[in-house]
Amino acid sequence: MMKILIIEDEKELSKSIATYLGRENYQCDTAFTYKEGSALLAEKDFDCILLDLSLPGGDGIQLLQQLKDDQKTDGVIIISARDSIDDKINGLQLGADDYLPKPFHLSELSARIAAIIRRKQYQGNNALQFEEITVDLLAKTVKVNKNQVDLTKTEYQLLVYLLNNKNRVISKNAIAEAISGDGAALYDNFDFIYVHIKNLKKKLASAGAADYIKSIYGMGYKLTIT
Ligand code: CA
Repeated sequence: MMKILIIEDEKELSKSIATYLGRENYQCDTAFTYKEGSALLAEKDFDCILLDLSLPGGDGIQLLQQLKDDQKTDGVIIISARDSIDDKINGLQLGADDYLPKPFHLSELSARIAAIIRRKQYQGNNALQFEEITVDLLAKTVKVNKNQVDLTKTEYQLLVYLLNNKNRVISKNAIAEAISGDGAALYDNFDFIYVHIKNLKKKLASAGAADYIKSIYGMGYKLTIT
């Protein structure tokens, strides 16, 4: 269950947000003061924090600073009646993901929470790992243990495709499509795949990887440990 922290001193508003989000299967904690918010932030991790700026006992902006100092990655939406450009820029610079001025519709708040959670999940998932091989899908880089491996674009696509289909036999036809898109139909044989596979294997091996890419006679290739 996704966890939300509502840091908001207007009790009616806090309650209506919690009720609405509760119905959408979020689990909500509430804090009504700066101090309560600060304590909960330090104690738990949340998928998304709704942060009011004008709080009894302090400024919500300082809570963003606290999250940053603690190197936390909770999603944050600032919900504030202080709709000034300075607050907005300040908040976003300090790591808030979004800024929703009051008053707002709860359905809009909910949509923005969902967007942030989706984004965080995607970013948390930007690496493919297989034994000593790591692919960073955002930076498009490949490492074997700590060694950077320089691959051509085609070799990179080939490796990602094999990793996404590990332990399955992949036909040369499927590989051709994966690495050349619609152009696959233009090839009358798949010898070029053999060449790319050979180069990929050589580069991975010289960076220190074991030989995981097996050729399956008459069928294609398979990336596997055994
Ligand atoms: Ca307030």
